[in-house]
Amino acid sequence: DTAAPVVTRFAPSPTGFLHIGGARTALFNWLFARHHGGKFLLRIEDTDRARSTQPAIDAILEGMRWLGLDWDGEAVFQFARADRHAAVAHQLLAAGHAYKCYATPEELTALRESQRAAGKPMRYDGRWRDRPESDAPAGAPFVVRLKAPTTGSVTIPDRVQGDVTVNNAELDDFVLLRSDGTPTYMLAVVVDDHDMGVTHVIRGDDHLNNAFRQLALIRAMDAVVGGWPDPVYAHIPLIHGSDGAKLSKRHGALGVEAYRDELGILPEALGNYLLRLGWGHGDDEIISREQAVEWFDLAGVGKSPSRFDQKKLENL
Ligand code: GLU
Repeated sequence: DTAAPVVTRFAPSPTGFLHIGGARTALFNWLFARHHGGKFLLRIEDTDRARSTQPAIDAILEGMRWLGLDWDGEAVFQFARADRHAAVAHQLLAAGHAYKCYATPEELTALRESQRAAGKPMRYDGRWRDRPESDAPAGAPFVVRLKAPTTGSVTIPDRVQGDVTVNNAELDDFVLLRSDGTPTYMLAVVVDDHDMGVTHVIRGDDHLNNAFRQLALIRAMDAVVGGWPDPVYAHIPLIHGSDGAKLSKRHGALGVEAYRDELGILPEALGNYLLRLGWGHGDDEIISREQAVEWFDLAGVGKSPSRFDQKKLENL
């Protein structure tokens, strides 16, 4: 299934330093691409204008260079592509795979309240899905929603998690364009991955639920214009602290530059540590970058969360 040239990407949101989890995701994407003689791309997901910062962008680029994770071509900045994202939403709208929803924030709050009170999952109920345009209140703001499939189920053959199935009834008609015309994260990721030719989406398993929505969107575009194949997905278990909770600063996890500046750790050592955090290759303790490129495969990525061990890292 890797007959087509492999293209992977690392897509960090520049809202903070390059942390251990992000660096490991970048490393796995880099290794997979290099192993297959493919491309490794970098996309800075700076659509959240309030939280994205230039120092964070600099820290990510510098951290990747320091770790030797060179990317192919120029880094892509997601915010600059907002017009293209909106154009795709309008293609779906024109083809009847998306629709304008005029539900007001008050209405949606009331909907969620009643669902909560009834103990039902809180999700949009498709109230504008089949209404004619003539029902639209003149000049009122609207969002654009995907007309997601409502019956059947979708199975993602995830390379790390195995087959994961979700009933389409559980997906709602999620928003593609907000009422101010800006794209949502869900739309931007899918359009950028397609336009960048990404074949393998390797990322943290906190994005597994999103994958089903993203796939619904990919398949809608494939139905409308063709040439939008399903990517291969590999969702890597997150790194946990020694207490089993999701890794945070509290566990002593630092940005990669802190390991360099404060602990004097060499990039080869940190890379080796990150590689062994969730990927196993026999009993080898030290794996050179060349060996890692030769040996890396997604089958070796474990299914359960790895434990971060600050002490071990300090003693490298
Ligand atoms: N920007 C997202 C994040 O930093 C990643 C999106 C993706 O990999 O699809 O969590």
